[in-house]
Amino acid sequence: MRQAAYLDYNATVPLRPQARAALIASLDSVGNASSIHRFGRLARRTIEDAREQLAALLNVMPRQIVFTAGATEANNGALRASGRRRILAGATEHPSVLAAAQVLAPAIETVPVDEAGIVDRAHLTAMLAANDEPALVSIMAANNETGTIQPVADAAAIAHRAGALLHCDAVQAAGRIPLDFQALNADLMSVSSHKLGGPTGIGALVVRDGLALEPLLRGGGQELGRRAGTENVAAIAGFGAAAAAADAERASEQRRVGDLRNRLEHEIRSIAPAVRIFGTNAERLANTSCFALPGLASDVQVIALDLAGIAVSAGAACSSGKIARSHVLGAMGVEPDVANAAIRVSLGWQSTDADVDRFLDAWRALATRDVGKTAVAPAA
Ligand code: PMP
Repeated sequence: MRQAAYLDYNATVPLRPQARAALIASLDSVGNASSIHRFGRLARRTIEDAREQLAALLNVMPRQIVFTAGATEANNGALRASGRRRILAGATEHPSVLAAAQVLAPAIETVPVDEAGIVDRAHLTAMLAANDEPALVSIMAANNETGTIQPVADAAAIAHRAGALLHCDAVQAAGRIPLDFQALNADLMSVSSHKLGGPTGIGALVVRDGLALEPLLRGGGQELGRRAGTENVAAIAGFGAAAAAADAERASEQRRVGDLRNRLEHEIRSIAPAVRIFGTNAERLANTSCFALPGLASDVQVIALDLAGIAVSAGAACSSGKIARSHVLGAMGVEPDVANAAIRVSLGWQSTDADVDRFLDAWRALATRDVGKTAVAPAA
């Protein structure tokens, strides 16, 4: 049995062996992909092969992919480079969308969600109709805290009817659910390598053919002039290999982790019937479970589980060592004291039954000790 159980795949995914091999194989290459000589051409080939692998995962043409230094850059860049200064974003979007929108638009317009975390499409339609300034709508494919899957194709249709662009943060969905850029009819889409088992610090922005976009970075002709800077060849190679592996293994992997997740949820319900599992009334990623036992604080759980060798996340964003209340659960109407008890368990390619058992043993001890006993009393 492993020394620790890593159950925090939505934070980052362990490097897949295929990504590791591709990364290591290109670490010693010296070529700059812009050089004409053979070393340069080899680096260029490595990048273009990876671009094809990622393009296959997302059903796009390779030329539509712009490599970036991660999805934070892709999200910030998409919003800024679209040129749109009216931005509507789902209330549960990642901070890299919300914070970017806040500085770009005079006033960010947040689209409300229902109690399962699904964006209110009627509301979005009405918001767009209220003003005819060219807008950009940003809706994520799947939420990082709850796994809620959004109706992105519907949002794109609504946006386009109003003359708006649709950007989709697909970071948590890529490699976990079928993701077809053409079928969703998105204009822009962000993905991140480390969320699908590739190296960190590399991501991509997918751009609809024909969309006018300002360069993400200026100063060189790389990425067809859309993002200047010498390419990170090894990281791109690892990203491509991870995308191919995640694609090939997606169906069986998600079935397997879905069974693990469902067993975990079944067991926690029988340990503590008062537990609240979020997002269950909508389509969810198979790997994610976000739940709260009222009275059992998130930070107490995260720390106690860590001492028991189990890595999970608070259902809240953790920055500078402080756990802040989740804006995602808040937008779903979860009461603050319940949101403060939320934790997120997220699984993936290396997760096992033993990991889930280890979690359940430790969580049972927490949920049934004194504080838990008060918590499991019938809710008023
Ligand atoms: N969007 C979502 C939904 C995420 O979960 C994350 C990672 N926490 C990001 C964007 C940012 O991605 P990166 O770590 O590649 O900057």
